[in-house]
Amino acid sequence: MENLKTDFDVFIIGAGPGGSIAGKIAAENGYKTCIIEKDMIGDKGRYKACGGAIGWELVEKIDYPEEKISRKFESLELHHVDGDRFSKKGKGATIWRSTFDKFLSDMAVDSGAILKESEPLINIEKIDSLYRVSTKKGKYIVKYIIASDGATSTTLKLLGWPYFEKKNLILTITKEMKTSKAFISKMLGSDTVHAFFGIKNLIPIGYAWLFPKAETITVGWGNQINLVNNSREEFKKFENLTFVKNALKGTELKIFKSHLIPVGLRPKLYEDNVFAVGDAGGIVDPISGKGIPYAMMSGQIAIETIKTCEKRDRLDKLGIYYEKNLDKKFLRVLKAKRIARDQIFQNDENLKKFLSLWEKYRSSEIIMKRLL
Ligand SMILES: Cc1cc2nc3c(=O)[nH]c(=O)nc-3n(C[C@H](O)[C@H](O)[C@H](O)COP(=O)(O)OP(=O)(O)OC[C@H]3O[C@@H](n4cnc5c(N)ncnc54)[C@H](O)[C@@H]3O)c2cc1C
Repeated sequence: MENLKTDFDVFIIGAGPGGSIAGKIAAENGYKTCIIEKDMIGDKGRYKACGGAIGWELVEKIDYPEEKISRKFESLELHHVDGDRFSKKGKGATIWRSTFDKFLSDMAVDSGAILKESEPLINIEKIDSLYRVSTKKGKYIVKYIIASDGATSTTLKLLGWPYFEKKNLILTITKEMKTSKAFISKMLGSDTVHAFFGIKNLIPIGYAWLFPKAETITVGWGNQINLVNNSREEFKKFENLTFVKNALKGTELKIFKSHLIPVGLRPKLYEDNVFAVGDAGGIVDPISGKGIPYAMMSGQIAIETIKTCEKRDRLDKLGIYYEKNLDKKFLRVLKAKRIARDQIFQNDENLKKFLSLWEKYRSSEIIMKRLL
């Protein structure tokens, strides 16, 4: 048996919102913590395809600086392609993920976590109760692993964990279209984000969006992956809607990217000191695709679970407590939403009923109080 010395108590793979918050909380609690990230984080670092819409309560909770916000919004306009429109009040902000993720990873570093950028994961071996993690730049012996490396998690692939079912994956396309601040305000309203629905005539299970940033419109489209025939053609159908065509007139394409959103949980979220956090675990709102706050909360809960189980000397309960704590905080609601999603997207009548309720209620209220 090798005589192993642990390099890190908590080893985090991926510096997205889930990984950075896990890193911050772990370091604050005195764990020797390392985050590896395959790319560079920051304004000149990796681009992350994302609508970048966050609720105002999250802006306040992390004290996100005003100057880093791209645009504040006060309402969400819900367009059904049959012609119905619904307006939902709700304060939030759009942010650039490069800036936002840097802010969060700085918080982790300030708390004492070590961040290793441009250091992708290559291999993981289990040795007794520890892991030897190999990256492009080194090898580390670690106790706990936080898999926060997104929907296609290499960590969980290397460990042989089961992947998402096809019906739980949304294929998205994002285009970043540059224009002027004034044009965006004229075409979309100065403080409104727009979402577009239509089962028969636009997207069978999913929706599309125009999210205004300062001088860019983020144009997004997402459909359940096994229902996509020709994503570019289907995306074009969205771009050809009169409202969208007018909003994008004269804008300049800067970035085109596809990405996955998991909208249902992985078959497991924990095994042998490894925690699936955020998108890696499919911890995302299955109706809206909102994932940033849930990634952050699951990162925090994973570390708090370790702390509690160590204190109570109940390491055999890590997995049970992790899911129990997630359920208590928000996962129970996301699970109910996953079931409701099938009903909402069954036909346009159900969808319109949901959209009309969504004008007045939170989606969690609609689902948990069975208003639909
Ligand atoms: C098109 C689109 C639009 C979206 N819009 C919104 C929105 O408006 N609001 C919202 O709340 N959510 C939105 N989401 C969801 C949100 O982006 C995710 O839920 C969130 O980013 C999950 O955070 P995470 O930390 O789990 O993973 P990620 O943010 O995916 O971070 C994973 C990190 O791991 C790194 N990584 C990957 N592989 C490796 C490796 N092998 N080694 C080391 N590092 C690695 C990646 O570079 C990345 O930095 C959107 C998603 C998509 C695809």
